[in-house]
Amino acid sequence: MPDIHKLSVKRVKGIGDRRSSALEQVGIHTVADLLGFLPSRYLDRSTETPIAQLPLKQEATVVGEVVASRMVPGRRPRFVATIRDESAELDCVWFGGYKYMNDAFKVGDWVSVGGKVTDYRGQRQISHPEVELLSGSEEDEDDRVHTGQIVPLHRTTANMKSSSLTARTLRRLIWDALEALDIDDSMRPDLREGLPSLGAAYRSVHFPESLDDVEAGRRRLAYDELLTVAVWGLSQRPRGSAMAVTSQDSATRLVESLPFDLTGGQQRALSEIQHDMTSEGTLHRLLQGDVGSGKTLVALMAALAVVDSGAQVAIMVPTEVLAEQHANNIQLMVEPLGIRAGLLTGRLRAADRRAAEALVASGQTQIVIGTHALLQEGTVFKQLGLVVVDEQHRFGVTQRLTLREKGEDAHLLVMTATPIPRSLALTLYGHLEVSTIDEMPLGRQPIKTGLRKGKDRDNAFSFIREQVTAGRQAYIVYPRVEGSRGVRSAKAAYEELTEGPLSGLRVGLIYGSLKGQEKSTVMEGFRSGEIDVLVSTTVVEVGVDVANATVMMIEHAERFGLSQLHQLRGRVGRGEAESYCILIADPDEELTEDAEARLNAMCETTDGFRISELDLEIRGAGQLFGTRQAGLPEFRYADLIRDQDLIEQARQVGDRIAETDPDLLGYPWLQERIEALTASGLTIAESG
Ligand code: ADP
Ligand code: MG
Repeated sequence: MPDIHKLSVKRVKGIGDRRSSALEQVGIHTVADLLGFLPSRYLDRSTETPIAQLPLKQEATVVGEVVASRMVPGRRPRFVATIRDESAELDCVWFGGYKYMNDAFKVGDWVSVGGKVTDYRGQRQISHPEVELLSGSEEDEDDRVHTGQIVPLHRTTANMKSSSLTARTLRRLIWDALEALDIDDSMRPDLREGLPSLGAAYRSVHFPESLDDVEAGRRRLAYDELLTVAVWGLSQRPRGSAMAVTSQDSATRLVESLPFDLTGGQQRALSEIQHDMTSEGTLHRLLQGDVGSGKTLVALMAALAVVDSGAQVAIMVPTEVLAEQHANNIQLMVEPLGIRAGLLTGRLRAADRRAAEALVASGQTQIVIGTHALLQEGTVFKQLGLVVVDEQHRFGVTQRLTLREKGEDAHLLVMTATPIPRSLALTLYGHLEVSTIDEMPLGRQPIKTGLRKGKDRDNAFSFIREQVTAGRQAYIVYPRVEGSRGVRSAKAAYEELTEGPLSGLRVGLIYGSLKGQEKSTVMEGFRSGEIDVLVSTTVVEVGVDVANATVMMIEHAERFGLSQLHQLRGRVGRGEAESYCILIADPDEELTEDAEARLNAMCETTDGFRISELDLEIRGAGQLFGTRQAGLPEFRYADLIRDQDLIEQARQVGDRIAETDPDLLGYPWLQERIEALTASGLTIAESG
């Protein structure tokens, strides 16, 4: 049986040189690629609404026959195609661009059109609808491929259409491929209990009898992804046992020097970490805790125990701003204990960097704080005993592990404010244990959060003035450094604010591409209180800790993701003073449903765990395939909320494989998929 991953699409009936090169342009080379090109949506013809009953101003999908098409000249020339079903007619209107539309439409075609329905002088119409050709005409023989009860719609681009790759053609090609090929399923049935074979799965996602069929097929494809990642994760699990720590002296002295007590949550997390590091085996743990819950301190105490035992610690963070802050804070705390901490980032000048690397290589620097620069070959440790990855969701899956490989059996602690369900941590990160800090330091007050539109923006600036007068500081964050039409940007706002609403205040400007030295100077100015208001992009998103700042104002808040908004908000409320988060939404634009839901969620709760649940819910909704979860591999088919049972199944099967055949000798196909997975570059670049 042929392996569809190696079989060229040219082997499919109807695909010659012309079509195959058009397919190649959209990344379809093999039969597996073709079968993986899933419908973007499905038309359920049994629940279709007749044109006459379509509600106005709502998105709808309609199926009908093209009965007329014409150019309408005039001040705004447009192409109009009229479609009809048993109940009424509907105009599809395109302004400009008519030439292409003219070719795409023929009277007699059956099409599905989707878009917002409006009423224009008594006639229903959709402007610039999404169109898919269903069949040349209703009478077409042999057309069950195209006009079953459930019609799959493969999303095609204009480019594809102009190479005659319409949704209809694709359906035909995929149908032929499935008819002609006996699809080899390398996964034995006992590894995929309760799930259909690969061939059956492809058949039911492309040509389902019902929407349940689609789901059954999707689950099989999702399981393939989950099993691959699970087995890969297991292969990364520490095998040997790392050096056991023997002393908590420095850690104890550090706690005694602090002006506050550890919270119960910090203590519990710490004792779990200490337990792993003192017993046989290796610390391999995820520390999660909401923004501001004090994860850094817990990590530092673990680090001190390792240093006491004679080994080094690497702390990797995603941005230079954060690396510098951590390095400063940590140096202040550990130098009195006689321990040396150093900074290593890509920004250092070549000579400084070589010097820093030499201190690491000789073991003189005991705690190294750095960015992605730590991953580079030049960074060599004398004896690396513990790797800490802060804001782990900002790193790619392979990056977390690359650093660990610089030591022999080093302990690993990864930290995040974006919680991951335990089952995921176990499955996708190769049995990563989870500790959770479930309380905030004493005296923290919830951050008051409000959504403001339009003219209330000016009030926000007056409020910031009041806070500054009272000795506090503020952040104002923008989605971009530089403007594009209609979007406020950090640079433009800096000009506007310093001359207008914030004149007289000491305002600073910071963004990712600002030169290293200037960036440090501005950040230092804000930290020391010489700058009152910091106008910024998202470079301050994670980790930045300036306790005197009490206002976080976010412009164009509708453009940020939910966890991003929560992280930004976490920059304030770090001291005991009442803090505020002001979300400004663009007054001129109607918010999308998702944006509205995100902003409401922010106003409703400050609980980071609740926020990430809501985030997954909002992003998961209305999306048939795929979920993005920062820091996890991007799945095409798996849905991390809905597929909990598959995740569990993948882990159990993965465990079985890892136990009986750790080198995957009997599973060459899994080996190949893992290679493809890691080669697909599960890495994320440094930002800011
Ligand atoms: P995050 O978990 O977001 O990384 P940080 O480690 O940056 O949080 O801690 C936030 C702030 O809280 C820091 O200024 C830190 O010194 C302070 N902090 C940490 N633990 C405590 C505690 N137990 N009591 C009071 N303040 C604390
Ligand atoms: Mg932090």
